Amino acid sequence: MTKKLYYDPKCTTCSAVVLACEKAGEAYEALLDATVIYPEGGGQLSDTGRIGDAVVSHAREAADGIWHRIDRPLAVGTTVEVMFDPQPRLDHTQQHTGEHILSGLAKTMFGASNVGFHMAETYATIDLDMPLTEEQLQRLETEANRAVQRNTPTETRVVTEQELESIALRKRAKGLKGDEIRVVWCGGVDSCTCCGTHCAQSGEVGMIRITAHMNYKGGTRLWFACGMRALQEAEENAALVDKLARRFSTKPESVLEAVTKQGDELAALKRTLRARTEALLAYRAQALLEAAEPVCGVKAVVHAEEGFTAQELKLFAEKLCACEPAVVALFSENGETVQYHLQRAEGVQLSMREACEALNAITGGKGGGRDAAAQGSAKAQAGFAELLCQYEGYLKQRLKGL
Ligand SMILES: [Zn+2]
Repeated sequence: MTKKLYYDPKCTTCSAVVLACEKAGEAYEALLDATVIYPEGGGQLSDTGRIGDAVVSHAREAADGIWHRIDRPLAVGTTVEVMFDPQPRLDHTQQHTGEHILSGLAKTMFGASNVGFHMAETYATIDLDMPLTEEQLQRLETEANRAVQRNTPTETRVVTEQELESIALRKRAKGLKGDEIRVVWCGGVDSCTCCGTHCAQSGEVGMIRITAHMNYKGGTRLWFACGMRALQEAEENAALVDKLARRFSTKPESVLEAVTKQGDELAALKRTLRARTEALLAYRAQALLEAAEPVCGVKAVVHAEEGFTAQELKLFAEKLCACEPAVVALFSENGETVQYHLQRAEGVQLSMREACEALNAITGGKGGGRDAAAQGSAKAQAGFAELLCQYEGYLKQRLKGL
């Protein structure tokens, strides 16, 4: 078994004997008789560190002790120096202790239970079993920071299974057995069974920020950041607002107003543009129809544009079909792709689904639709104009046969 020295905050290095070392994929795994490296567990990430010259990237707890993933083999029976990387450990410990404070307060303030916790290198989340409002989350954040500022010491006790029964706790892990169960009291606001590492005083957590939240499985998932993570996030947000303010030539506190104003202006311009596009398309539709010769009373219009969206092609085709009996094949080249829209006027028999199949065969395109309209695209290619002439010939031939 491995002696767990990582719970003692003063213990930053230790000597250990290598009990076993095995190849594990590209790396190796070593079992030691003692370690200061925290193994992944209880929602907390593994420490990284060093064993002698070997770099430790991860540690895991197994039935026979703690196995360390290392980049080179160690000789069994030798004595080695073990140390953890202090910066990631502090970060993980701050997030973990912050989670206790937030979870304990969520329970006492709102009766919300923590039903899930996830910590990653760049974010941490807590799942609560009830929905919380914006205002409740704001109060939770404020109270969490008050608990940090009171700088309460963390208390840890190792108790037996029997002793555990008489201790009031927010949460106890299921199936705990034996006489070495760790119980922790954090920030004066939380108590639970826990195997993680904790700040000695709540003040060491630093700032706690709830950075985002969403409804999740009938409850709330909240993202939070503690210590330097919280500072970094606040700095990034401030830099972003500053950039926006410069872009809008305004003060940071006026950014929201400026963005809202620009959004409103953009919406008004879109409405104007749409009205003008419709008027322009109606005018051009008239010109195209005037130029087309009817075949058995139906006009075939095959026409190419540049830079039209699928929506604009549809609108144009509708304008063409609204005026008189016609079948319309509109194309628009957008870079390497040609989009198309086929439409027939009411009363015309030719199926656009069939017309689409013929078009795909001629252009090598992909698309489909219903009898009244079809859409698709083809690769832009040299000689596309000739293909369209060929297609116009096909449509006219089909109209003759109706
Ligand atoms: Zn804990």
